[in-house]
Amino acid sequence: MLNKEPILAIGIILPQDNRRTVSFYFSNPEDYSINFQKPKKPHTSEKLTVSLHDGDIKINKIKTDNSTNGVTIYDVPAGRNFHWKKFIDVTLPGNLFITNRNDKLMVINLVPLEQYLASVAVSEMSSSCPDEFLIAQSITARSWILAGTEKKHSNLGLDACNDDCCQRYQGISQQSIQSIKTVEKTCGQVLTFDNKICDARYSKSCGGITENCENVWNMAPKPYLKSVFDGQNRLQTVDWDCWLSEPQNSFCSPKYIDEKYLTKFLGNVDESGQYFRWKNCYTQQIFCEFFSKKINESVSHIKNIDILNRGESGRINKLNLKYQLDDGSKKSLILNSEYDIRSTLHPSFLYSSAFILKLDESNIELIGGGWGHGVGMCQIGALGMALNDYSAQEILSHYFQGSLLKKIY
Ligand SMILES: [Zn+2]
Ligand SMILES: [Zn+2]
Repeated sequence: MLNKEPILAIGIILPQDNRRTVSFYFSNPEDYSINFQKPKKPHTSEKLTVSLHDGDIKINKIKTDNSTNGVTIYDVPAGRNFHWKKFIDVTLPGNLFITNRNDKLMVINLVPLEQYLASVAVSEMSSSCPDEFLIAQSITARSWILAGTEKKHSNLGLDACNDDCCQRYQGISQQSIQSIKTVEKTCGQVLTFDNKICDARYSKSCGGITENCENVWNMAPKPYLKSVFDGQNRLQTVDWDCWLSEPQNSFCSPKYIDEKYLTKFLGNVDESGQYFRWKNCYTQQIFCEFFSKKINESVSHIKNIDILNRGESGRINKLNLKYQLDDGSKKSLILNSEYDIRSTLHPSFLYSSAFILKLDESNIELIGGGWGHGVGMCQIGALGMALNDYSAQEILSHYFQGSLLKKIY
């Protein structure tokens, strides 16, 4: 286990974003030194626009006493590949490195872990969340990145990207004095199991029961990522039809958080929605339109969708979709993961794969629960616990059973 705070490389603009220019704004230009690989006039103004062929550029903060200042980058993607994709301006702490990767611009933020986490805590949710929630979120986020088992961008030399694909990181503008102090209190604290840092996963809302990690990803089961009932009284057996269509008493349900107030606690890129229970209704025609595009065939009708396997939380991870093409031929498609199911059964991306289906000649209706993969900490449930006087320690040991809290630096 490491014993001092590392500097992370976080991708802010990635090659996949296909950018040819990126603009930066400095509220205090004198706080920064800018080193151009190719000769360029010394930097004096507050604005800098970098193009693809400008060569490598290093932007270093030379004044370190004031952590509330940073560099603003315009039009950074948030929610890449998801239905809530937006472009936002982010103000970042630490240093920046801009480079050309296979003829695409890439912007990397080199930031000390604790400063990164202070932003993650309030980017994932909002700074008006109760302290005990922010503490639990920071320890979870720190553990996940230090466990480092899920390095999705190691080919680019990154520890993580700035987005939902890794952890949502939208810079320092959302931070409040309160949220910075709260995260500082947890400095160096991680969750451990068998003396190793836990690969602590989390998602927006489990829907009432969290999921086993091996039902979502191709990974070995982990004792601390095992399904838990997200409430006080565990149900004996679950009838998914009742479970997904009725209100329940879990920490992420309206019993603990009124959905009216939820917007106050959610981060700034989520659309308002039904986080606990939701419904998607399509006509056969609409469904076939987007489904045809996704599979590159001309589908005229969905005949049946057979659910082949559900995990502990009700999330479907295997189904068989039977359909008919315009020429009358019949086909079927097996979807083998919750991710494929979510990306196929929605024009962009379905909230979760925990749903029941109603399908007839004219309509397809999905009635579901939760938002996200459902493994590990349920963020809305953790918020519900914190609002009802549970401590961060209680929240963490509820979602990551058997884990121990340890300060490693
Ligand atoms: Zn990522
Ligand atoms: Zn939950």
